[in-house]
Amino acid sequence: MARMRSDLPRMQKQVPARAPRLAPIVPESTVEKPAAARKPPMMRQYDLIERVRRYNPNTNEALLNRAYVYAMKAHGEQRRASGDPYFSHPIEVAAILTDLKLDDATIAAALLHDTIEDTEATRAEIDSLFGRDIGRLVEGLTKLKKLDLVTKEAKQAENLRKLLLAIAADVRVLLIKLADRLHNMRTLGYMPPDARRRAAEETLEIYAPLAGRMGMHEMREELDDLAFRELYPEAYEVVTARLNALTERSRLLISDIEKQLTKKLADRGIDARVVGRRKRAYSIWRKMERKSVGFEQLSDIFGFRVVVKTLADCYQALGIVHSTWPMVPGRFKDYISTPKGNDYRSIHTTVIGPSKQRVELQIRTVGMHEIAEYGIAAHALYKDNVGSPTELLSRESTAYAWLRRTIELLAEGSNPEEFLEHTKLELFHDQVFCFTPKGKLIALPRKATPIDFAYAVHTDVGNTAVGCKINGKIAPLTSELVNGDEVEISTSKAQTAPPAAQYSIVMTGNARSAIRRATRQSVRLQYAGLGRRLVERLFERAKIEYADDKLKGALPRLARASIDDVMAAVGRGEMKASDVARAMYPDYKEERVARYAAG
Ligand code: MN
Repeated sequence: MARMRSDLPRMQKQVPARAPRLAPIVPESTVEKPAAARKPPMMRQYDLIERVRRYNPNTNEALLNRAYVYAMKAHGEQRRASGDPYFSHPIEVAAILTDLKLDDATIAAALLHDTIEDTEATRAEIDSLFGRDIGRLVEGLTKLKKLDLVTKEAKQAENLRKLLLAIAADVRVLLIKLADRLHNMRTLGYMPPDARRRAAEETLEIYAPLAGRMGMHEMREELDDLAFRELYPEAYEVVTARLNALTERSRLLISDIEKQLTKKLADRGIDARVVGRRKRAYSIWRKMERKSVGFEQLSDIFGFRVVVKTLADCYQALGIVHSTWPMVPGRFKDYISTPKGNDYRSIHTTVIGPSKQRVELQIRTVGMHEIAEYGIAAHALYKDNVGSPTELLSRESTAYAWLRRTIELLAEGSNPEEFLEHTKLELFHDQVFCFTPKGKLIALPRKATPIDFAYAVHTDVGNTAVGCKINGKIAPLTSELVNGDEVEISTSKAQTAPPAAQYSIVMTGNARSAIRRATRQSVRLQYAGLGRRLVERLFERAKIEYADDKLKGALPRLARASIDDVMAAVGRGEMKASDVARAMYPDYKEERVARYAAG
């Protein structure tokens, strides 16, 4: 399992004027110009306030203006690694939060979030100028930032613990922290490679799952994708290129489905918004890894969302869809009647659409849609004067209630490592964490089997696995592992290759390719054995001496790289034993072959 890193260096760190930039292999003027042309200009005070006003007409403009000006002055001449004025960062963070339609205090705190840490500003000053609510938020973020600097692995538990405690005090801390991380990930390119990698790992392991756990899917997907691009650039390129090609090819089909669906629903009096949505590179990659399958179908790259007015409309729309197109069995899920733990609600189904393609559909109301996209942030659309949002959230949001419960565990004083383990288990919904008898942690996808486990430990263990014990009890190798299982694999040297049937019961791509490799290798060995017997028999009958060394010298004449290759070729019938004899003894007589072949 990849380690969880908490030693993310401060990405916001002010770069001294003489520090070398990262890109300047090319003279600076040529670098700056195209970059400036591509980059949108820094957001202005007015733009930001306009964005807030669009969803909150009663916004306290004076407050936001004050925060904007204060932060701009405080950061002064500081610059980002990109060379941009430092202040562009808090503005962008605030802008991300306007997409989530957050309240004035959150926007103001976002503008101020780096001031206590990086400038002369103090909590007392922020309190007196902006009120204690905002002061607390900024201080909460400052504490988290200090933890990003911690390098010791032993401190990671402490880091996560502090993060969760800060969130418990006010969930808006999490929202600002996630927006902060998102902007830093978007501008990661200017950081040194080491820092980039650590930031990406931490994002993939902590921040993205946390966003997901809080139901913030948009945020989660973008964080995942940015980290994926950083950590696996080639895979990212390949998947993205394929995704683009398939999208291009399906363009007409997609708009056709949107139109047909909208019309069918309208004909029956349902006012629906149908939107095709392209899947993200990372989610496709995950699926390919999990199932070791490629992507070809429309349903692999596109999902359609049907957003309707009322709950009743959802089921009526479902009826219309199912009576128009045949549904694909086993793909129907009703997350409206049983919502997911992160408050997600929707009906999922897959049908065979108009052009015989599989079409994936999610049916939901506008309200469910907001929660599906923005999760806890959608709940957080609270008015400024409602008072403590925590109360309301605890009642309204299962995700938040989960967070509160987790944090209560902390208060019970369990040790930080134990707590970290527990929280990680809970964070990673789609993974199971198992242990070796010596306590080493092995992370696997859900539904993984002991065979996956064995291959994750070592390829040799996987190839020779013949049985296992789960939590001390003998269990079949086909068992589905669950969180916390301790798995002990028994191996046998007598097994040279895994039974081919195991191929179909493993979940990990790693195990699959190892089984394929081992199977190929073992088949090859069998052929080589057969070939050797054929060659030896011919030599015996012809009464000539066979020696490996002699054959080695003849390899170039046979155009093979090794003795095993020759033997396997003979075993498979691609080469005759007499060819081998002739290569070793050029005067070897043909009739002996005839006699051998006849006998
Ligand atoms: Mn920041």
